[in-house]
Amino acid sequence: MTPWPPALPAKLHPIVRAFLDTPGAVAETLATYGSPVHLVFPQVFAENLARLRAPLRRGLPGHRICYAHKVNQSHAFVRTAERAGVAIDVASPHELSSALGAGFDRARIEVTGPKGEAFLRDLVARRVTINVDNLWELGRIAELADAHAEIPVLLRVSGFDPGQVSRFGVPVAHVERALELLSAQRGRIAFLGFAFHLDSGDLGERVRAIDACLRLIERAYDRGLTPSVLDIGGGFRQVFTADAERFDAYVLALRESLLGRGEPMSWGSNTFGYHVAGGAVHGTPVFHKYANTVSADRMLTDLLGAPLERHGGRTVAQVVGDNLLEMWLEPGKALVDHAGITVATVEFVKEISDGSVLVHVDLSRDAVTPADQEVMVDPILPPRAGAGPVGVYFAGRLCLERDLITNHKVWLPTRPGPGDPVVFPNTAAYHMDLSAATASMHPLPRKLAVTREPDGFRVVRDADYEPDLPGESPAPRDFAPQAAHAAPSPVRFVEGP
Ligand SMILES: *Cc1c(COP(=O)(O)O)cnc(C)c1O
Repeated sequence: MTPWPPALPAKLHPIVRAFLDTPGAVAETLATYGSPVHLVFPQVFAENLARLRAPLRRGLPGHRICYAHKVNQSHAFVRTAERAGVAIDVASPHELSSALGAGFDRARIEVTGPKGEAFLRDLVARRVTINVDNLWELGRIAELADAHAEIPVLLRVSGFDPGQVSRFGVPVAHVERALELLSAQRGRIAFLGFAFHLDSGDLGERVRAIDACLRLIERAYDRGLTPSVLDIGGGFRQVFTADAERFDAYVLALRESLLGRGEPMSWGSNTFGYHVAGGAVHGTPVFHKYANTVSADRMLTDLLGAPLERHGGRTVAQVVGDNLLEMWLEPGKALVDHAGITVATVEFVKEISDGSVLVHVDLSRDAVTPADQEVMVDPILPPRAGAGPVGVYFAGRLCLERDLITNHKVWLPTRPGPGDPVVFPNTAAYHMDLSAATASMHPLPRKLAVTREPDGFRVVRDADYEPDLPGESPAPRDFAPQAAHAAPSPVRFVEGP
């Protein structure tokens, strides 16, 4: 009944699948630019953006999407966001330069995250919108701003649910002090409204945060302030798996293996955040987000339609709209979902003393793994003749015991060999850039932008990418999977490395 072998099949966007299915596309890309490479697909980004915009356009007259730049350093994504007419959320001086370089003007830039003295001075001088993290920041803005500067400011708040602690934002209990300062400094600071960011898939938690911010807006009005923005942050989920049942079956088998039943499935003493005690496996694994099956636009639609008890059961969208508020969003991972893959190459395959098979690749764990979390999506290898399936661990290129790309066992149809390309699916969100280091002086993988054109795929360096999307909203494209195979030259490279 249980399918064998356990598998974590990746969901792939049709454009990505067509690229991988195009004979020679991957090989030519590696031959031209070297291995490993990160490939980003700006057309997929544009499609994600259009999908997230739809429920906002249907339900809310006032809204703004700020693409959270920190999810990926890609220039192509930032250019695509700029061309699509949305705003951007930057969290460092370098992200700010990247946004300015891509054509964003100050009115479409919002700065989040913790900021130090030098960055704050620069932001005040530029008069971009500052999403304030704490009371020190707010005080410094008031000191640095000219008397009538009216620096646009959002106040990030946190700690809505009892016991919920965040290192970011002003705790709800301290907001009164912020409001006092904001009303005393009205010439220097233009108070736009309240912001929060939750990294949670829980609808109720977001609705409670929205309700708390609506209360705060009322309190701000009582003080003569006129906030009009409710910034609900990011945290909209990705869908990694192509088969939720197989995913669940894999996790079940993994849990069994942690209890010593069946074939071993974890490298070393890894328990993936599970707590194994008393003959049972407890807790939530570090990789829980890979199990998600609810799309970002579904999450957003549900949120906009959620009733607010304190407002007579009217929905979030109705209350926001009726009060002429503008809802801001800061999606990161939802916009780059399926818009990137990483391609590495097998160096060699070896067997170690306990019989485990290690597939060594020319890249390290940090280049495909966000904050060291285990990535629960199977890498894709080309078909090869031979006996199988074979259970392996993927090992990285660093001389560190811990540089395993998968600490969980991956079953491949056959044993791979040196030179085989290995595709790591859906790596655009945090996997590529968040943790990547240049340990042992290995340079970071090159980043390339891939687009599907009528005559085949085009590959350019990410830094050189220019979108040709017409105007404000990207035109819907036909992604029917026939053109790629018919194209005489499958991949067109623009400018060598
Ligand atoms: C990281 C971050 C985001 C983006 O989060 P996602 O989960 O990628 O959507 C948005 N806002 C703030 C303040 C952040 O720190």
